Amino acid sequence: MYIIVWIFSIAVFFTILYFVVKNAVRNAIIEARVVTRIKVEIEDEISKTACPSCGGEHDMDFPKCPFCKHRY
Ligand SMILES: [Zn+2]
Repeated sequence: MYIIVWIFSIAVFFTILYFVVKNAVRNAIIEARVVTRIKVEIEDEISKTACPSCGGEHDMDFPKCPFCKHRY
């Protein structure tokens, strides 16, 4: 008789576990997407700089301005 209770308990336990894990994985995926988007936005903002000579916006890793060839 106890075995039925056991099996039922295990079934309930795994059903709850399944939903919890599924929820956690979904939340983690959503969070990762949001974090990635924010990171990309921040990197986009950081990696852009304005030339002090002509005011043109370009990536920070240029050794000189691609518009007016101003050297930093
Ligand atoms: Zn320039």
